[in-house]
Order: sequence, then structure tokens, then C-alpha cells
Amino acid sequence: MNGLWIGLLANLGIISISISIWAYARDWIASRQEPVRTGITVLLSGATTIALMVTPFQIQPGIYFDLRSVAIVMAGFVAGPLPGIATGVVAAVFRILIGGVGAPSAIIGVAVATVIGLAGHSFLAGAAPRKRDVFILAVATAAGSLSGFFFLPGGLWREVLPVVVGPALVVVFVAFVVAGLAIVEDLRRRETARANTVFRGIIDALPEPLNAKDRDGRFIAANPATAELMRAGAPAALLGRTDHDFYPSDIADAFRRDEEKILATGVPLVIEQRVARRDGFSGWLSTLKAPLRDASGGIIGLLTHNRDITGRKRLEDEKAITEQRLSDALASMADGLVMFDAEDRLVLCNERYREIFARTAHLRVPGTPFRDILRASIAVREQAGVAPEAMEAWIEQTCASLHAPGEALIELGDGRWLQTRVRPTADGGSLSVLTDVTAARLAEQKLSELNRQLETLARVDGLTGLMNRRAFDETLEAEFRQSVRNGTPLSLLLIDVDRFKAFNDAYGHPAGDACLKAVADVLAQSIRRPLDRCARHGGEEFALILPETPIDGALRVAEVIRDGLMAVGIPHVDSDTGNLTVSVGAATFAGGNSGTAIKDLIGSADAALYEAKAAGRNRVSAGRSIPLNALSRRGI
Ligand code: GH3
Ligand code: MG
Ligand code: MG
Repeated sequence: MNGLWIGLLANLGIISISISIWAYARDWIASRQEPVRTGITVLLSGATTIALMVTPFQIQPGIYFDLRSVAIVMAGFVAGPLPGIATGVVAAVFRILIGGVGAPSAIIGVAVATVIGLAGHSFLAGAAPRKRDVFILAVATAAGSLSGFFFLPGGLWREVLPVVVGPALVVVFVAFVVAGLAIVEDLRRRETARANTVFRGIIDALPEPLNAKDRDGRFIAANPATAELMRAGAPAALLGRTDHDFYPSDIADAFRRDEEKILATGVPLVIEQRVARRDGFSGWLSTLKAPLRDASGGIIGLLTHNRDITGRKRLEDEKAITEQRLSDALASMADGLVMFDAEDRLVLCNERYREIFARTAHLRVPGTPFRDILRASIAVREQAGVAPEAMEAWIEQTCASLHAPGEALIELGDGRWLQTRVRPTADGGSLSVLTDVTAARLAEQKLSELNRQLETLARVDGLTGLMNRRAFDETLEAEFRQSVRNGTPLSLLLIDVDRFKAFNDAYGHPAGDACLKAVADVLAQSIRRPLDRCARHGGEEFALILPETPIDGALRVAEVIRDGLMAVGIPHVDSDTGNLTVSVGAATFAGGNSGTAIKDLIGSADAALYEAKAAGRNRVSAGRSIPLNALSRRGI
């Protein structure tokens, strides 16, 4: 082997050793502080350069060459400006120390290599070098390595360059490419290792089980959470085993079927499944299964990510049960129930509510605005008593009523009555309960009608149909007050049937009753004015209240009564005339605030009646006028 090859191999060996040292020591160097880091880098690249310079190889007889430019460019390219320049300086100083006529041109060559290295570094702009970058820089380095020859003294380059250009270019290019690719590969490997460490850390820290299986379902990777889920101890214990080692065979078979489907289709799958482990654990998992592909896209296995959703499932089950209970409760309610949100849209209602409003039931569903429901309800006459021109105002008022607590009674178009109770809810909406109170309302109306009838009965005399004594007392009192207020006269007639005991004795009690009825009819026909009242005062005694009537008018009415009775002509054997007669006592209150009491008026009429009886019956007697100055006495 000649000197060329020995030198060349020595140069390549130095570069290889240097790159190996750099690769091994890189992490350690990187962990040092500046300027130690730069110092060590320069030491390595400087030593490499010097080693290369002391082992030159002879390209042509007398012409020596080495691969220093590869080391100098690489230092600047990979390590940066400072180590690059420092390496160049080391090389230059060493070359000066060697001396000789070629020193100046060699220093120029060193400078060119330094500049190429720095240019390459700045071109990378912080990114990791790629293969393409290495090739470009290899060309530049090879070309630059020739630059020193141009500056050989005495225009030697013309003779030297033609003979060195070929071998020098090839050797430098090849050496740079080999060294550069080794560095690129090392950087890539480191980057991959770093990324792997990060991913491994993330996956291990993941609280949810994540694992990978090969095509046969054997675990090839798993995080601690998977080992925990499978109760396998450490993740390593899972490797090489399958689900059949951990789950009952029916469950493991089901898992496997899903996995085979994904292996066949390549489509990921999310499955929510109930799992029961051999150790008794039972729960729910949400499982994502996705194909695991190699770099060429071929499916080499499966990735599985599990999430324990037992808690969520339990909550869902509880929610479903609660909703069912609520729904059952709502359905069995006798009342209608409806809930609106803050924007007055129906949120929830029960079937009873829809039954109550059967004509608009199709609208009474979640989401419908209350305004639309009300409008439709009026249109189909479900809602009564809303005039078209007042409709919008009514709708607004009804919507507003949802937002304040209250109770109301509403009448529907078909006569049904609803009682509504509204309570606002915490979210700005409202809850209303509607009770059909039609039956209660009708019963109430019937009761009040009965009460009215009772009230009437309590005021009517059963035999004659006239006012009874109680009604007479009330009416007289009311008319007396009116008379006091208005200053108008009020007359009272007390009418007593003559010798009625004898009538009863002669004709019997039933005939007596019929006779009293006949007298009542005569009395009722004798009064003409709307304010005049006729009452049975008790037994066979009657009374006439004649408002705004002076004594003269009262006496006229009394005569009309006597005449009317005559005309009816009820036979009475014990009567002087042969017919039934009455005696009448009349009295008049003149009106105004005279200090007279009602009992005075009655007493006066009673006294007059007594007078009429005493005077022979079948006559009218006027009592003292009340007050005295209005008194007019007349006996007939
Ligand atoms: P006088 O002319 O003095 O009034 O004699 P009189 O018999 O009418 O008077 P008295 O007060 O002694 O008798 C009243 C009688 O009227 C007593 C009673 O038998 C009768 N009487 C009272 N109320 C009724 C009634 O509702 N039906 C009947 N059939 N008789 C009655
Ligand atoms: Mg009497
Ligand atoms: Mg009598």
C-alpha cells in the first residue's frame, strides 16, 4: 500500500474517530455550561484538524493534501460560529507553526473552509441538518479545499491544480458526505429517542388505559393504567398475552371479534361496553379501537384506548329512573302541570294539561312559545271572552302573569272553569298547576241559588205567598228610614179579619186557610204602586206598607180593600153583613227627622185597628198622625 492510501485512510480514520467521540460525548458536552461546552467542542474539532494536518497524504509526488477542510467546515456547520471560527484559528496557528512556502496559501484555504462552515450553519437557521444540506455543503467544501492552491507562490497553481483537482475534489466530497451523513443520522436518532421518551412519559402518565396489540391480539405495549385496569401488575406482565388471559372467554371473544373487524376494515371503532373481569370487577368502558399502521400504511396491529365510564353510566341509569318516576308522577296527576322557560316557551307539561286543552294539545309541546299557544286557543274558541281587538293586550297580560306568583280562575269557551296557580322558577321561568274546578264551581253556583231561594222562603209566608212578619219588619224599617231621609210620608195599614175564630168554628180550619188566602189576594190586588208592599203580619192579621203615601191615600186604599172583599163575598154566618169583613187601622208617619220611632207608627196603627173593632168592626179607623200635627182622625 503506498503513501496515498495510508494517509487517506488515516485522515478518514481520524474523522471517524472524531465523529464517534462527538456522538458518545455529545450529551455530556451538551449538559455542560458555557464556555466549557464551546471549549470542549473546540478542543475536539481543533485536535481533529491538527491530527489531520499531521497525517497528510501525497496526491502527486511532492504534493501533499489532507482533509482539514472537512473538519473545519463541519465544526462551523454543526457547532456554530464560535467553535467554527476557533477551529479555523487553531488550524491557522498550527499551520503557521509548521512553516514553509505553502503556509500563506494554506491559511487562505483554512479561512475559506471556516467561512463555508459558518455559511452552512446560518443557512440551517437553527434547524437540524438534512441529507440535502450535507450534499450541498460537501460540494462547497470540496471546491473550497482547492482555493489554497491558487495562492501558491510563483504561479505554481497552473502546474499543480490540473493534477490535484480530480482526486482532491473526490476525496473531500466523499469524506464530507460520509461524515455529514453520520452526523445527520445521529441527530435523527437522538431526536427520535427524545420524542420516544416524551411520548412514553405522556402515555405512562395517562390515567386512562392505552395499549397496542399485534394482529393476533397480543399486547405489544401498554401503559401502567392498562396494567392497573387488567390487574396485571406491571405493564411488562401484559406483553405477549391476550385478553383471553384476563377476561372470561365470552367477553374476550367479543373483544376479539371487534378487533378483527377493525383489522379487516381499517376503520376505528368506539364501543361502550360492560366488562366483568375474572376478579369480580364489573363496570362500563368506553373503548376506542384504531388500527396501528407501519410507515408504509399497512395495518400491523391495534391501538386501544379505554375510558372507565362506570360512574357516568350509573348517573345515566339513575337519571333515567328519576325521569321515569317524574314522568309517572306527572302522568298520574289529576291536575294539569306546565312549565315555561324565561322566554315563555313551553318546557315541560303532563298529559293532563294536554287533555284540559284538547283543542290546542298539538301545540302544547316543548319549544312552542306561549304566545302562539294563546293565539291558537282564542282562534279555536277554547279560550272564552277575549274580544279580537283586545287579543294582543290580553296575550301580553297573560304572559306577564307567568312571572309573578298568583292564583286565578279562568273560564273556558265550553263553560269549564280552571283554577291556575303560578309560581316563578329560579331560572326565570314559571311552573303552573291547573285544576278543573268546573264541578266545584257549578256546585257553588247551585248552592248560592239555593241560598237565594232559602232567603226568599224565609221572607215569604207559606200560606198566602205574601211577605212574612220578618220581611215586613225589615221592609218597614227600610221604608221608615227612607221616609226620614226624604221627608216623605209613610202610611201603614193593619188589617184584621173580623170574627175569624167563629169562621173557623163554623167552616173548619181548612176553609179558614182558604179564606185567609182569598183575603191576601184581595190585599195584593188593592195596591197599585210599585213601592207598596203587602205582608201577613200574623194569624188573620195583615199589613200594608205604603211609602210616599199620606193618610188620605192610605184610607182610600183601606176602602178599596173593604170594597174588594165585599165584592169577593165570602159567606160568614156570624157576620152582621153575612159576608166576611175586615177592620183596618191606618196610621201615617209624616216623614223627616221628627224624633218619631217606628214603634210609634205601628202602635198608632194598632190603636186605630182596636178602635175600628171597638166601633163595630167592618170599618177603617185612622190613628193619630205621627207627628201629632199631621194627625187626622176619621172613623167610618
Ligand atoms: P175579632 O173580630 O175580634 O178579630 O175576632 P176574631 O175571632 O177574629 O179574633 P181572635 O183574635 O179572637 O181570633 C183569631 C182567630 O183566628 C184565632 C184563630 O183560630 C184564627 N186563626 C189565626 N190564624 C189562623 C190560620 O192561619 N188559619 C186559620 N184557619 N185560622 C187562624
Ligand atoms: Mg186578630
Ligand atoms: Mg180577628
